[in-house]
Amino acid sequence: MFVAAEPDSPAAPARILPDHQRGQPFWTGGASGQLLIEHCDQCARWVHPPVGQCCECGSPLVARPVSGRGTVFTYTVNFHPFNPGVPVPYIIAIIELAEQQDLRLAANIVDCEPDSVFCGMPVEVRFERQGSGPDAVFVPVFAPAN
Ligand SMILES: [Zn+2]
Repeated sequence: MFVAAEPDSPAAPARILPDHQRGQPFWTGGASGQLLIEHCDQCARWVHPPVGQCCECGSPLVARPVSGRGTVFTYTVNFHPFNPGVPVPYIIAIIELAEQQDLRLAANIVDCEPDSVFCGMPVEVRFERQGSGPDAVFVPVFAPAN
């Protein structure tokens, strides 16, 4: 199940965003509740991070929706306040998406006590809206799957 944050939701914490990647489908798909990952239709392979072109066959990659389900591949809990706007502790994880064994992405895990997270934990995507209008991005985060 996808949960899109309400516009201007006060619940969405500040996050440090990569400016040069704004506008890419990965950061905007959450507007329609979709986690968009690049796919090679020739090789039938998912590719992340987005690179635009398949490294196996050279075909152009197309952003397509995935299920949003996966498991925690590995994680760490950060206690250091690198950014005063981001409360600690928080969980940084590598999520392996259900679609493909080596399809992994880095994301925060939310709605989960740091002591409760474990490798192999089933998770599902949520989106946190940051900003508004055409500059809005929808940050994919993951929560324990129900
Ligand atoms: Zn390919």
